[in-house]
Amino acid sequence: MFEKEKDLYLKRHGFEATSLKAVLFDMDGVLFDSMPNHASSWTRSMAQFGLHMTPEEAYLHEGRTGGGTIDILTRRQWGRDATEEERQTMYKAKSELFSQCPEAPQMPGAANLLNKVKEEGLTPVLVTGSGQLTLLDRLNHNFPGIFQRGLMVTSFDVKRGKPDPEPYLMGLQKAGIRPWEGIVVENAPLGVQAATAARIFTIAVNTGPLPDQVLLDAGADLLFPSVQSLYEHWEEVRQTFS
Ligand code: CA
Repeated sequence: MFEKEKDLYLKRHGFEATSLKAVLFDMDGVLFDSMPNHASSWTRSMAQFGLHMTPEEAYLHEGRTGGGTIDILTRRQWGRDATEEERQTMYKAKSELFSQCPEAPQMPGAANLLNKVKEEGLTPVLVTGSGQLTLLDRLNHNFPGIFQRGLMVTSFDVKRGKPDPEPYLMGLQKAGIRPWEGIVVENAPLGVQAATAARIFTIAVNTGPLPDQVLLDAGADLLFPSVQSLYEHWEEVRQTFS
């Protein structure tokens, strides 16, 4: 059971009790093992412009807008922000390499977890910074009958991406619930920051190469080493937050 983590969460936000109604899922790195593709297309595309970026950095900045990530690199290596034209050219190069990557597989354990959540009468909500139309199509293909159209937040819906809480606040709104009635499943530090800023209990699944501490420092309330491991402990989570 995770009573200790729940009590810390309630105390931190001044809430009285939880009453679980919905689970808000991030997509890249949680439902699909797509981060290796993102990391390799980031490092290879930036190298074309003389910008050095490690794969770990791609994981660290996951969820940031493309332009925001590019600015961090140009500030560090060129001492200035990229121009709008540079940002667009560079992000286009990244997107092109990404589209040539092999299709990302489902994350092990994701389908089982989604089915269990649905069976238990909880509402699955998707909250992604992605605007990749192909991935959204694949979502319905890979996990049929799980996500309703009206219960998805994508980059088309929000003005400010993660780490701003807006995507998760919109997820709460679409699901018609309050923060203590939801749980978030996230893999990225900026995603964890966004979810905790929206005051939702946030479970980090560390599916990438970053140390656990990075996700805990970002504010994760609970951490599992994989989605499969979260699935195996789901009953305990469910009972804690009922
Ligand atoms: Ca993610």
